[in-house]
Amino acid sequence: MSEIYDLIILGAGPAGIGAAIYASRAKLNMLWIEKKFVQGGQITDTYEVDNYPGMPGISGMELGEAMAAHVKKLGASPVRENVISIEEEEGVKIVRTKKHEYRAKTLIIALGAAHRKLGIPGEEELGGMGVSYCATCDGAFFKDLTAVVVGGGNVACEDAIFLARLCKKVYVVHRRNELRGEKILQDRLFACENAEMVWDSIPLEICGQDKVTGIKVENVKTKEVRTIETDGVFIAVGIVPNSQLLKGLVKLDESGYILAGEEGITSTPGIFAAGDIRAKALRQVVTAVSDGANAVASVQKYLLR
Ligand code: NAP
Repeated sequence: MSEIYDLIILGAGPAGIGAAIYASRAKLNMLWIEKKFVQGGQITDTYEVDNYPGMPGISGMELGEAMAAHVKKLGASPVRENVISIEEEEGVKIVRTKKHEYRAKTLIIALGAAHRKLGIPGEEELGGMGVSYCATCDGAFFKDLTAVVVGGGNVACEDAIFLARLCKKVYVVHRRNELRGEKILQDRLFACENAEMVWDSIPLEICGQDKVTGIKVENVKTKEVRTIETDGVFIAVGIVPNSQLLKGLVKLDESGYILAGEEGITSTPGIFAAGDIRAKALRQVVTAVSDGANAVASVQKYLLR
């Protein structure tokens, strides 16, 4: 029979890192699993994080690295493996990867969320050929060219501001006539002279053969359809929780987020949720990190019960 850990943490975004810091300091017998080489989760795709206390204007990658270095100093590093199933047998939590089967008394699920897809023709076919979900990763390929950003949230605003510095022209296609992103980001976006808003419009198709040449959009008010010529399409229409492996294990809401309060307590005893995968009002680095800390406090209470 394999070792039974006190705790397994799944994911090394800000929530998983926050949990690993608190679990290390609590000296829990802990295993930490992350599938990517880098730590930091979604922030590693972010050009600039300007709302994490003490780190004004830091790049997402640098913040991820700083967090990873902090937790490493406390003696914790994730094993790099892809989780393929999570189960429970007689109260023991079983996490399987391709190579191993791990067992624990408790789990903190900090698997985060992934980019939502538009689901329109051309999106899949032109992936990597002008269609991208990460402006900081791929923006440099569009220097002095034209780019379209789809979406109206924080990510769309940040992507458009970032691309406006590089590109000749940036269009922002949004389905309403008002952005969802923070006011400070809206102001920065509206100040970009080469950025143009395409309000009340939904994308119908991304055009091109071996590379993107345009995006067909429909104005939802006038029903007018037009094609915007562009070299790249950056899709920033929100996130979907990485909770596919959790169906039947813990209660999820209708969008797939884990139902758990601030303490991270889920419907299944001994399983805790932290970060963007949890149903909550505000998904930010600062709330993800605090979720990780809260979840460890709940784990400690659970282990002492
Ligand atoms: P988001 O805030 O959920 O915004 C998604 C945007 O895409 C919305 O404007 C939405 O339109 C639009 N949209 C959704 N589905 C669409 C569809 N099928 N077709 C066209 N448009 C669609 O997502 P996000 O910007 O990716 O951010 C994700 C989370 O990370 C959020 O909680 C955000 O606050 C957080 N975040 C925070 C920061 C920061 O604090 N600086 C930075 C990045 C991300 P509607 O507005 O009409 O719904």
